[in-house]
Amino acid sequence: MKSARLPAEVISGEVEIHWGDFTRILYEAVRNDVNYRFGVRVTALADNSRGLDVTFSDGSTGSYDLVIGADGLHSGTRRLVFGPEERYVTQLGQCFGFFDIENRLRLDHCGMAYIDAGRTAALQGIDPDKPARASLFLSDPHVAFDYRDTEGSKRLFVERYAGMGWEVPTLLDGLAEAPEVYFDSIAQVHLDSYARGRVCLTGDAAWAPRHARAWVRLSRWSAPTCWLTKCKWRVTITPRRSPDTGDYSRHTSRGVRSSRSTP
Ligand SMILES: Cc1cc2nc3c(=O)[nH]c(=O)nc-3n(C[C@H](O)[C@H](O)[C@H](O)COP(=O)(O)OP(=O)(O)OC[C@H]3O[C@@H](n4cnc5c(N)ncnc54)[C@H](O)[C@@H]3O)c2cc1C
Repeated sequence: MKSARLPAEVISGEVEIHWGDFTRILYEAVRNDVNYRFGVRVTALADNSRGLDVTFSDGSTGSYDLVIGADGLHSGTRRLVFGPEERYVTQLGQCFGFFDIENRLRLDHCGMAYIDAGRTAALQGIDPDKPARASLFLSDPHVAFDYRDTEGSKRLFVERYAGMGWEVPTLLDGLAEAPEVYFDSIAQVHLDSYARGRVCLTGDAAWAPRHARAWVRLSRWSAPTCWLTKCKWRVTITPRRSPDTGDYSRHTSRGVRSSRSTP
């Protein structure tokens, strides 16, 4: 067993921005121009040859030229159009839990990790007076893990981390009390194309790499606006003609393949 201090260049660096902070910035920038609808999800999509009829979980409907599924690894849009995620998601044998905890070690732009066979506990802090981010990783390709079962996942991590030293007992107390824990597994998405008819997928929904180096390279591909500029994808939408979403798929596949082949 070994603990290590991780410098800012590796963890909690100046350039890092938390996911929640980033989405808030994006939201504030466009909230007056974009119609956001929180608390609903798409439950049905039907191509009517002039557009897509979309049904939402609150029963409302709408008609759209194009639907872009940017709804992450467990994409509901992908499920509706391409089928269940078991067909496309390859598990890489690791699951994790992220949560906030009191910054007892007063970590300031640095992180610490404690590593044992199949288990890594890490703490990172960007401000000694603010909560630290705790993460627990478990490597076991056979573990029964369901990211949706928060209480079951908490029990699993407490069991598997029992007896570990360093700050781990405090982390396990924090895990038990945490009101919010982000549990998931490390997985990749493999699809032959990222579009079907008037529906396109982007980001983790389309090609989740879950690989440190690939993240950096693929982040350039994530925003839908990149499609039209970097990918040189042109889409013309007329009431009677479907957009050529195949072009988007071809350009994007090349970027995804090259990112995955990066050592
Ligand atoms: C542990 C971990 C660490 C990572 N660290 C890094 C890192 O250091 N650097 C990096 O570049 N990348 C990192 N990544 C990867 C990065 O987080 C993802 O690649 C990125 O967030 C993908 O963005 P996305 O918008 O495609 O999906 P997400 O960020 O998953 O966003 C999907 C959104 O869709 C919403 N949603 C889901 N279902 C529905 C629905 N049915 N209806 C409406 N909305 C829905 C979700 O609430 C969420 O807001 C990390 C990933 C993990 C798992």
